[in-house]
Amino acid sequence: MRIFDPHIHMTSRTTDDYERMAAAGVRAVVEPAFWLGQPRTGPESFADYFDSLIGWEPFRAGQFGVRHHATIALNPKEANDPRCRPVLDLLPRWLDKDGVVAVGEIGYDSMTPAEDEAFAAQLALAVAHDLPALVHSPHRDKARGVQRSLAVVAESGIDPGRVVIDHLNEVTVKLVRDTGVWLGFSIYPDTKMSPPRMVELLRAYGTERMLVNSAADWGRSDPLLTRATGEAMLAAGFTDDDVDRVLWRNPVEFYGQSGRLELTDLDVTAVDPTTGNSILRGGE
Ligand SMILES: [Zn+2]
Repeated sequence: MRIFDPHIHMTSRTTDDYERMAAAGVRAVVEPAFWLGQPRTGPESFADYFDSLIGWEPFRAGQFGVRHHATIALNPKEANDPRCRPVLDLLPRWLDKDGVVAVGEIGYDSMTPAEDEAFAAQLALAVAHDLPALVHSPHRDKARGVQRSLAVVAESGIDPGRVVIDHLNEVTVKLVRDTGVWLGFSIYPDTKMSPPRMVELLRAYGTERMLVNSAADWGRSDPLLTRATGEAMLAAGFTDDDVDRVLWRNPVEFYGQSGRLELTDLDVTAVDPTTGNSILRGGE
């Protein structure tokens, strides 16, 4: 099973995680810029963080045979902090870099006017830089947040096929399914989506434009839940090809729209955790 985790915050994870991910078949990841928990006090702090997302972290991932790309943005939560807002003017510096495959995470946290402004401005940057956009959906008042996000996306003029709305669930999936945007699902250990619930959604809505991620970060989360979802799919009767589509080809197709996804020479030897056998998998 080859796995591309399209949303994971490796900055917050350990080398043990990289080792276990590589052994489970995770060969590529996208790390979106996000809120680090501790409030940042100015744009310089973002600058160093963005540099680490395109420099240090890809280097660290590479030591474990994992290919690392990033998305860059002012996150929805810190869009409310006037000390952070000036980072919007600095973003183009990173949006032109190799290794940056989308603008994100953008979207809503509390749905404030400041968030409206940052969201629209960053969708405009995505259009200007010819990049896809990764849209976070809020944890509270999720349905209203998703509806409002879809309206802002439509107003921006970005091609909906270049947008993913993430952290969806059984309720919000219905709002998004027929809008042409991609659907992102974050599989968590005990809240939000679980592997069995994800399998039910794939049964109901099919595998097209579906992205499954672990969204693992500094909170309670598990970078191996992509693999667990693939196994739950197989146990439920999905084919190897279905699993490969959801866990590999879909994220490749979505982020490939940036023209910057670099997946050549990704032949890694990994140990299959279920059999203990060494497995060699070719890239494409
Ligand atoms: Zn995230």
